[in-house]
Formats: sequence, structure tokens, C-alpha cells
Amino acid sequence: MASELIDRFGRVHTDLRISVTDRCNFRCQYCMPAEGMQWLDRSDILTFEEIERVSRVLVDRFGVRSIRLTGGEPTVRARLSVLVAKLAKLGVDLSMTTNGATLGMFAHDLRSAGLQRINISLDTLDRQRFIDLTRRDELPKVLEGIDAALAAGFHPVKVNAVLMRGINDDEIVPFLRLGREKGLTVRFIEFMPLDAQGEWSGDRVVPYDEILQQARQEFDFEPIARGTSPAERFAYTDGTGEFGVIASVTEPFCESCDRIRLTAEGQIRNCLFALEHVDLRQLLRNGGTDDDIARAVAGEVDRKWAGHAIGQVHFLRPSKSMSQLGG
Ligand code: SAM
Ligand code: SF4
Repeated sequence: MASELIDRFGRVHTDLRISVTDRCNFRCQYCMPAEGMQWLDRSDILTFEEIERVSRVLVDRFGVRSIRLTGGEPTVRARLSVLVAKLAKLGVDLSMTTNGATLGMFAHDLRSAGLQRINISLDTLDRQRFIDLTRRDELPKVLEGIDAALAAGFHPVKVNAVLMRGINDDEIVPFLRLGREKGLTVRFIEFMPLDAQGEWSGDRVVPYDEILQQARQEFDFEPIARGTSPAERFAYTDGTGEFGVIASVTEPFCESCDRIRLTAEGQIRNCLFALEHVDLRQLLRNGGTDDDIARAVAGEVDRKWAGHAIGQVHFLRPSKSMSQLGG
């Protein structure tokens, strides 16, 4: 077996995204159906020990270098800092994506347990819009959560905003102002066809070029090296930091994608848009060895396709929504 998670196009995979729960305290319009989801049974979700084992195999056998915790909403998983402490021992770059609403309570503990970086998802700075988008009146809590993450010493704190036509496409400059004021890295994400309602259409995407055009009306900035980040990065010329654009739809970065995903119920998925998966939970609970786990993951990565094909006739939506895939 190869000592790298390498697919048939030669892409090496070193970034593992783990959904620690499918549950969420929000029901964002573009991510979950209005009526909510049928949550997985507790016993169907991987235990911390199972998550740690899979992570350890991937780090030891294949040199996985970074792990990002996501959900659903990762902070609704009880005793999350216990898992963070276990994963921190693997010596990886350990980060989390969260809606931020409970960070006021947990940021400090997560930092002490060894979490290194945090991305907070926030799509509007307007309270009524926030209620409409998330079906929760928790904008003040999320803003508190951002401050708590900064106070706990996370650096950088990134704020990710999904832009949608006619909903928040007038908030590019206000978000950038907030980022500059607070020392946050704001990143704008193009809306992807993974919404649970199936309402996505190409004309609801606010494209990369337009985001930059709006940003230029108020700020001067220059492109900076992207590295392995999916974001095109820009530094303000006055030295007050940077912002980014993740153009998953108009400028896909599939060619350099190095991510694999472990869902809450133990599926390995080789792409956000994958239509298939391999089930590790069965292996874990039926006496599978570390070799079996490694072989199953390597096989799934090997099967990865070239790219997601959004906007092409043969594009098929996966049956899972973003809240089940973790972003
Ligand atoms: N609950 C956490 C949160 O909101 O950050 C983690 C899971 S959430 C599914 C991860 C990311 O996916 C969030 O930044 C969210 O905005 C993004 N997301 C959800 N649905 C999306 C969609 N249809 N298109 C683009 N991004 C989406
Ligand atoms: Fe929950 Fe995050 Fe999806 Fe919003 S984007 S419903 S916070 S999982």
C-alpha cells in the first residue's frame, strides 16, 4: 500500500475533515430544510475513541497533516474538548469550523485542550437577516463568540461568509470593515448546490470577480500566494491584514484538492460532491485492523474523480446536505 493517500490524478491527500456530529443548533436556510433534520441515533455516531483511531491510522500511515473538526455544529457534541485533547496529541494542525454561537462558553477550554485555529461562519451583520437566514436570533451571541475566540488567543480567527444574490450581496464592504477593525481574516464563499432545499441556481451565486470589484470600491489590496489554501488571498496595501475568496463554483480548486472527509456516522467521502462512500464504522465495530482501515481509506481516495462538474449537464447533487457533510 502506498504511504500517501494519493488518487489516480496524483493528488496527495493530507487534510482530514471530521464531522463530529450531524446535529446543529441553527437551521441555516442554505444548509438545512426548514423542518430540520432527522438526527442520527447516538449509537450510530462514531465515539471519540473511534474518531481518534481513524485519525491516528491516517496520520501514522499516510502523513495526514491537518485535521479540521466540523459538524453539523461541532460545539454541540458534548465534551468536545476531550476529543480535541486526544487529537492534539497526534501533532497535526488542528482546527475547527463553527457557527460561533457557543464560543463564548467554550473558546477558552478548546484552546487549552490544544485547538489551534478557528473558522467562524457568519453570513450577515444584520440582526433581522440573521434570523431569516439561520432561523435563530443569535447574531449577538456569534459576535460575542468571535470576541471570545480572539480573547482566547486563536490566531488567525477567520470569518467565513457565504454570499447569496439578493440576500447578503450588499455586505461585502461591511464584512471587510469588521475584519479590519477586529483583526479577523474574512473569507467570502460562493454558494454551492448543497442546500437541503434544492433551491440553488447559478444566478444566486455571487461570483469571485464581483466580490473583488465591490471590495475595490473601498480598499486597496494585492494578491498574495495562496499556498494549499482553497482561498484566493489578498493583502491590504496599508498592512491591516488580509481577506480571501473561496470561489468553489466559478474557479474550482479541485485540481489541488487535498481533502478527505469522515462523516459523523463513519463514512469516508473523497469529495463534498461524492455520490459514494466507504463505511468505516462497520470495520471499526467488527474487529477491522488498522491495515483494513488504511486499505479502505486508500481505496476511496484512489476512486476520487477529477472535479465536481457544477454547472455541467452531468452534474448530480449528492443525497446529503452540507450540514451532514461538514463543509
Ligand atoms: N456548523 C458549522 C458552521 O456553520 O460553521 C460547521 C458545519 S457548516 C456545514 C460548514 C460550512 O459550510 C459553513 O461555513 C457554512 O456556511 C458552509 N455552507 C453550508 N451550506 C453551504 C452551501 N450551500 N454553499 C456554500 N457553503 C455552505
Ligand atoms: Fe448548522 Fe453550520 Fe449548517 Fe448553519 S451552516 S445549519 S450552523 S451546520
